[in-house]
Amino acid sequence: MYDLIIIGAGPAGATLARLVNKNYKVLVIEKRSLRKLDSNNKVNKPCGGLIAPDAQRLLGEMGLGVPKKVLVGPQVFSVRSIDIKTGKQKFYQRHYINIDREKFDQYLVSLIPNQVRILEKAILRKIQPGKKNIEVFYQQDRELKRVRTRKVIGADGANSLTRKILYPGEDVSRYLYFSIQEIFSAKKVLPYFTVLFDEQTTDYYSWIIPKEKQLLIGSAIDDMLNARAKFEQFLKRVKKLGLGIGQKRASQGAFIYRPTELKSINTGRNDVVLVGEAAGFISPSSAEGLSFAFLSALALAKAMEKDFDNALGDYNSNCGKLIFKIIIKNWKKMFMFRPWLRNWIMATGLKSMKVDD
Ligand SMILES: Cc1cc2nc3c(=O)[nH]c(=O)nc-3n(C[C@H](O)[C@H](O)[C@H](O)COP(=O)(O)OP(=O)(O)OC[C@H]3O[C@@H](n4cnc5c(N)ncnc54)[C@H](O)[C@@H]3O)c2cc1C
Repeated sequence: MYDLIIIGAGPAGATLARLVNKNYKVLVIEKRSLRKLDSNNKVNKPCGGLIAPDAQRLLGEMGLGVPKKVLVGPQVFSVRSIDIKTGKQKFYQRHYINIDREKFDQYLVSLIPNQVRILEKAILRKIQPGKKNIEVFYQQDRELKRVRTRKVIGADGANSLTRKILYPGEDVSRYLYFSIQEIFSAKKVLPYFTVLFDEQTTDYYSWIIPKEKQLLIGSAIDDMLNARAKFEQFLKRVKKLGLGIGQKRASQGAFIYRPTELKSINTGRNDVVLVGEAAGFISPSSAEGLSFAFLSALALAKAMEKDFDNALGDYNSNCGKLIFKIIIKNWKKMFMFRPWLRNWIMATGLKSMKVDD
């Protein structure tokens, strides 16, 4: 029997698996293949692959750097903000690290100590809490297998099955966006992260991120039923901006969580605990999720170190900083996503910079 089963080896799950006390018997169940830092995965995590300053700081605080093979060019030092309806645009100084997200996740998994057992290409199917322990069912190589554990950690991201099993009646649909991200060849180098506001597409935002000779173009769309049609229309408008978008190479889709109110955050119950985006920890203004994944994993590792059996209470207390961050980001969101306010701020030029484009 395991002490701990972690579902998902994304940034939250991998960080927790790295930090958890070595005396515990730990199993990680992950549907991707992440053990080799060069493996070509068929299932990738769609992501912009930008490490924001908060996440950089946390990596630093955890004593980690980022290996060269995780980095991709160009490194970007500014955000170009465009309102598609009004045509207004401004540049702002920002400090991101541009990475290959799949390689970054592989790197985090490579840091997990050997005594932690990692099952790859294994998919969680069912969690059944019993009186003495919890049964976890997963599928690997078409076979359904069962393991037993004292605790389960759901680190399985925005559309967390752990959370759905734990709270079957919970409706999180209004906090879920569907992001479509497509990869295009780039006709010219765009040395910045472009943020696009387009109310016809979404009440959230869209983005263009350069990755070597390619561009990631994505949008987080609230109207899930019409997401594809909205994205196609959005692409037509974006192509008119003359940003040098070439041929389409690939298309990806993923859910993204937007915790617009505190009740959208859920850290779990008894011995089934949620971390990272599964719990709702992600910025509701920028969709930056890496720092939230790290912080929540750190908060839970600390709580389990103090009292493994009753970790949830301490975890909730340790999440105070995260909750505060989400309150601040929701406040910031009002300025970013109210068109008249955003356009007024852009018109003032507040904190913007001049760029020779
Ligand atoms: C399109 C897009 C772009 C983004 N861009 C950025 C960005 O540039 N910078 C940033 O900071 N944040 C970005 N985010 C947010 C960020 O990716 C997430 O918030 C962050 O990855 C959350 O980490 P996590 O470990 O909680 O979850 P995830 O990274 O989602 O990891 C969950 C893990 O669980 C596994 N899993 C899921 N279900 C199962 C199952 N049933 N069985 C087994 N394994 C399972 C998955 O394979 C995955 O490895 C972006 C999100 C999206 C969707």
